[in-house]
Amino acid sequence: MENCLFCKICAKTLPAAIVHEDGETVAFEDSNPQAPMHVLVVPRQHIATLNDLGSGDEALVGKLFRVGAQIARERGFSERGWRGVMNCNRESGQTVFHVHLHVLGGRAMRWPPG
Ligand code: AMP
Ligand code: ZN
Repeated sequence: MENCLFCKICAKTLPAAIVHEDGETVAFEDSNPQAPMHVLVVPRQHIATLNDLGSGDEALVGKLFRVGAQIARERGFSERGWRGVMNCNRESGQTVFHVHLHVLGGRAMRWPPG
């Protein structure tokens, strides 16, 4: 999708610190990290928000979480814990309209989130 930041990162026309990629997903360091680990896992396919998921996207969403868990494991956060967050639309704080999983770890998280 033209003018989508995360599509550009997937296509490597916009630089990012990519930490994982496979046929369906790309993961990269968040440019404004909110925790010692703050990685974003995105589908290569442009899907604007969680509201736009179709029935064929169920495995893809599961893949985002599996990749997030793998990155957390590689960084030693499996047992301590980590948080996976997906924001949807304005009141959640979504600012980039290409679905993404935030993978946060390395500090104690508060609940409920702000
Ligand atoms: P959200 O607010 O849930 O839409 O999250 C968007 C995230 O993308 C924020 O945490 C931003 O810091 C991050 N972000 C925006 N632009 C970039 C970029 N070019 N490279 C890496 N992360 C980015
Ligand atoms: Zn996109």
